[in-house]
Amino acid sequence: MSTRIGFIGLGIMGRPMARNLLKANHALVVFDIAPAGPTDIVAAGAEVASSPKDAASRADVVITMLPDGPQVEQVVLGPDGVLEGARRGTIVVDMSSISPLVAQKVGAACEARGVEFLDAPVSGGEPKAIDGTLAIMVGGKEDVFKIVEPILRQLGSTVVLTGATGAGNVTKLANQIMVACNIAGMGEALVLASKAGLDPAVVFNAVKAGLAGSTVLNAKAPMVYSRNFQPGFRVSLHQKDLRNALLTAESLKVSLPLTSLVHNMLISLMNAGKGDLDHSAIVQFIEQMSAIEVKEPEPRLATT
Ligand code: NAD
Repeated sequence: MSTRIGFIGLGIMGRPMARNLLKANHALVVFDIAPAGPTDIVAAGAEVASSPKDAASRADVVITMLPDGPQVEQVVLGPDGVLEGARRGTIVVDMSSISPLVAQKVGAACEARGVEFLDAPVSGGEPKAIDGTLAIMVGGKEDVFKIVEPILRQLGSTVVLTGATGAGNVTKLANQIMVACNIAGMGEALVLASKAGLDPAVVFNAVKAGLAGSTVLNAKAPMVYSRNFQPGFRVSLHQKDLRNALLTAESLKVSLPLTSLVHNMLISLMNAGKGDLDHSAIVQFIEQMSAIEVKEPEPRLATT
């Protein structure tokens, strides 16, 4: 069934997600503050809104895909925001990765206006956003989830209701902790192997089918030893996620020693001007401590 969807935030992730909704024959009205404008999405059939309020007044479901909590608060609760244009029964689905505490605040403000709210962050990055195979972790009421589930299934291959409002982002923070610590552990392993004179590509191939094998290892180890740190998922976005994890942990009186450590590595990388590199650059922090780079050995010159 076709739904009229407002889509706000057309960045690395939002743009391909909006395209997939158009391909699924939904009517889309889009908004982004970026000056470049959503020309390709409009060419694919979307209408442009003049503000989040305008987008919400022309839609039954509003999806936001923004950098962090402050942008979500501004777009949904701020002047000319979604809540000014939404009607009773409009469903707002925030798919950004934000603090669960902010998701609950925004959800409560929506509820007070008779507007439904789900937090539904995603994992999988740009390639899975393009393929429509994201992992989507949702928080909110089950009856509201059931209404938008078919739309979310056009964006992701797994769509799971994980609990009440905010639970989607708690699940996403858990995901981000596992990914960040996995990259850091991989970094220490490959630095050790490289310093011992081994080829990191050979080490990767030797371990990847064993217990240490993982999606993170498969995606990130080849990037590191071929020295390709093009994002992907930026260091600065992962720092934002671990900061949100630590703030949430503090509110729950939970100790996250490994997350704190990797969070500090990410801040150090940002101070070194590496905030826009792929998060596999966590390995660069570990390399620096041992003054070695993880890379494939130079081919030897043939001797005569
Ligand atoms: P991005 O920076 O590429 O896109 C964000 C978009 O939001 C931009 O186009 C920006 O202009 C727009 N925007 C910012 N403030 C706005 C406002 N006030 N009103 C309207 N538009 C506004 O970010 P992204 O990589 O697409 O990530 C979006 C979210 O998805 C983030 O929370 C990120 O952590 C999460 N995420 C990203 C990836 C990834 O691999 N990039 C993977 C999973 C989850």
